[in-house]
Amino acid sequence: MHEVSVISNMVDAILRELENYNVEKVEEVNIVIGDLTSLGPEQLEFAYEIVTKGTVLEGSKLVIESEKVAVRCNECGYEGPAENLESDFFDHSIPVIACPKCGGGVDIIAGQACRVRDLNILEVE
Ligand SMILES: [Zn+2]
Repeated sequence: MHEVSVISNMVDAILRELENYNVEKVEEVNIVIGDLTSLGPEQLEFAYEIVTKGTVLEGSKLVIESEKVAVRCNECGYEGPAENLESDFFDHSIPVIACPKCGGGVDIIAGQACRVRDLNILEVE
């Protein structure tokens, strides 16, 4: 399950970061997951629960924010959502996205995120 390795990498990074603080409790962990990553929120939450067991993160709430796919067109300069996504888009192993305005080649500028945004922690007084 891909979600488990993604989450355990994130949790490792968070735990390393938390070593700098005197943490009593972590209430919330906010992460951003791009729509192009095809990571399932339920699988992520499930993996989070398992991976955080026995750590200071155990019992904290995982809040998943999704990042919509956005593109920048090399031809006309369009920058914004990729509106021409087909409904079966995620079945393609190599997604091909074209500019919604002119059909030109695009760079993907959003939708591939997979990162921790912030944490809500309680520090020991
Ligand atoms: Zn264009």
